[in-house]
Amino acid sequence: MNTHPGGEVLQITALTPSVRIFRIRYSLSNAFRPGQFVMLDLPIQTEFTTRSYSIASAPNSDGWIELCIVKKPDGPGTSFLFEHIKEGDMLQVSEPQGKFVLEAETAPLCMVCTGTGIAPFRAMILDLRRRHTRLPMPLTLVFGNRFEEDILYREEWEQMQKLDPNFKFIPVLSREENWNGAKGYVHESYLPLAKAYPETHFYLCGWTTMVRDAKNKLKALGFSRKQLKFELYD
Ligand SMILES: Cc1cc2nc3c(=O)[nH]c(=O)nc-3n(C[C@H](O)[C@H](O)[C@H](O)COP(=O)(O)OP(=O)(O)OC[C@H]3O[C@@H](n4cnc5c(N)ncnc54)[C@H](O)[C@@H]3O)c2cc1C
Repeated sequence: MNTHPGGEVLQITALTPSVRIFRIRYSLSNAFRPGQFVMLDLPIQTEFTTRSYSIASAPNSDGWIELCIVKKPDGPGTSFLFEHIKEGDMLQVSEPQGKFVLEAETAPLCMVCTGTGIAPFRAMILDLRRRHTRLPMPLTLVFGNRFEEDILYREEWEQMQKLDPNFKFIPVLSREENWNGAKGYVHESYLPLAKAYPETHFYLCGWTTMVRDAKNKLKALGFSRKQLKFELYD
């Protein structure tokens, strides 16, 4: 793995009991495409010592990136990050990688994710908002979680929805009982939009089951490969 100068952990912030943001010094903080990921090479005793993490912050000239990481019970990589890494420690970070980036900035977009699958979308959306006073296309973010407390960056999305008429935020909860919003799994929340606006481009991110199901449902509706981009976390 080609590592890059930097890697100092500048700040660790808990978003929920199991999700933390790691802000890391990174000389390429202005030289990646939103949606890309980095690999961390960790001192762990497993066959592969690298773990990939989407960059959750927009490109900036401040010299840092943020990674939004969920602790996997008994996962060697995340156990190391959560139990041993402190602010001031150094991490081995790769160059930015991956092709999960926005292609067109004119077609309506729908981003569908669960959990920390929100990370690349945050980078993309913050970058669009940084470059345009209002999003240049209608953009719907469908964000699936189990409980209300799991909704990462909730205030940011709600605030953005108030400020930008082109942005729509649909949180979907599968296990919360006292919830007036969308319930169940993400699919019921984007399918009406897919049917009403067949020119939409879909971006899907997260674990295989959700992404595979979404791809199949959208393909069955006639969406082309060009309209479907996805990033798998497993
Ligand atoms: C492109 C991408 C982006 C991701 N972004 C995020 C993110 O933003 N936030 C987040 O929380 N998680 C993200 N993940 C998941 C993350 O990489 C880890 O899989 C997760 O943190 C669990 O790691 P672990 O060691 O704790 O658990 P484990 O389950 O032990 O590790 C994950 C599994 O992946 C295998 N593995 C790891 N690296 C490799 C490799 N290079 N080649 C083959 N197999 C490998 C391990 O052997 C293990 O089976 C992403 C994954 C990918 C592929």
